[in-house]
Amino acid sequence: MKELLEKDFDAIFVGTGAPKGRDIRIEGREEADHNIHIGIDWLTSIAFEHTKSVGKKVIVLGGGNTAMDCCRTAIRLGAEEVKVTVRSPFDQMKASEWEIEDAMGEGIPIYDNHVPKRFIVKDGKLVGMEFEKVEAIFDDNGRRKLVPTGEDPVIFECDDVLVAIGQDNAFEWIERDIGIEFGEWDMPIVDKVTFQSSNEKVFFGGDAAWGPENIIWAAAHGHQAAISIDKFCKDLDLYERPEPTTTLISQKMGVHEWSYDNDISQAKRYLVPHADQADALKDLKMEVELGFDEVTALEEAQRCLNCDVQTVFSEDLCIECDACVDICPTDCISFVHNDSEENLRNKLRIPAINLNQQILVSEQLEQTSRVMVKDEDVCLHCGLCAERCPTGAWDMQNFLYQEAKVYS
Ligand code: SF4
Ligand code: SF4
Repeated sequence: MKELLEKDFDAIFVGTGAPKGRDIRIEGREEADHNIHIGIDWLTSIAFEHTKSVGKKVIVLGGGNTAMDCCRTAIRLGAEEVKVTVRSPFDQMKASEWEIEDAMGEGIPIYDNHVPKRFIVKDGKLVGMEFEKVEAIFDDNGRRKLVPTGEDPVIFECDDVLVAIGQDNAFEWIERDIGIEFGEWDMPIVDKVTFQSSNEKVFFGGDAAWGPENIIWAAAHGHQAAISIDKFCKDLDLYERPEPTTTLISQKMGVHEWSYDNDISQAKRYLVPHADQADALKDLKMEVELGFDEVTALEEAQRCLNCDVQTVFSEDLCIECDACVDICPTDCISFVHNDSEENLRNKLRIPAINLNQQILVSEQLEQTSRVMVKDEDVCLHCGLCAERCPTGAWDMQNFLYQEAKVYS
């Protein structure tokens, strides 16, 4: 970093992620070092074709997506017995549901509530691992504690262990005397609004800024940091952020016609077809998920709940005919006299009990001095109210939110 700063760039953005796989420090770690691999490094080494084989019996430690990649890769490299062990209960594993399903579908067992205790080494070689069985107990604050069950320790034989228990940042390459302050967990201190570090020329984003998140956050951080860098280079106030843009566009095409399909399918998520398992397990590079064919893709798209299409109400068009009240399948529209929110919530056709979800209250209406109240919590976005309304007081409008970008 010092070298980069000396080159006198106007600004530097650090988006180096959290690439350092966490290690495990338990008995036998040093002696068994040759057969213990940090999962993420092991996968990299396979991708670059430095590692081409693995032992017959493999244990994978960890329950995240890297652990799922490790176990499935181990099988493809020729391992005959692969086990995944995870400290937490099965339903709290961090891996995506479909990654877990796919790993188990390839015959890989997952042992939950197993805390690694030691590597067992015989004659200088790793031969197994010992685990303690635990159960998860939650205190009043919802904090989890893994408590030993008192059962006998579990021993699994193994030739290799892949450690996939988390990833950290790695800032060994940033000198500590160049004005970039580091705080807890050896993470740089980064401004949450501007993404600027304590060295005004250096900006951070993605996992490098505040630890592991997902790709969506990383992309958003990149955009926000770009805005800051643009302002920084123009000597402008970094805290004055451009507003996002929002648009509402009517989806009406005719009296009963919408530019979106409001007939929501009740089908469950369609499963993506997979390649033949026997072939896939023999070939490290074979793509397992084949993707949907056109018909299934269209069926899957039909499951969209149209959350982006909103019901928009115009007081000045409403003649209070109550037709929308009659047609709404969830009874979420009521015309009542205005009151406090608490009272309003209780006097709707069906009380609006989810306090986390706002109710929409219109201005006072002309004919009866009532207001229209809609419980957003149960609206299906089906558009029947807008189809039925004789005056177009209800309209289905597509809502777009666009975060400000440096080029916009
Ligand atoms: S969109 Fe459907 S569910 Fe929502 S208010 Fe209109 S009729 Fe009711
Ligand atoms: S159908 Fe239209 S005009 Fe009739 S009450 Fe509902 S919003 Fe008002």
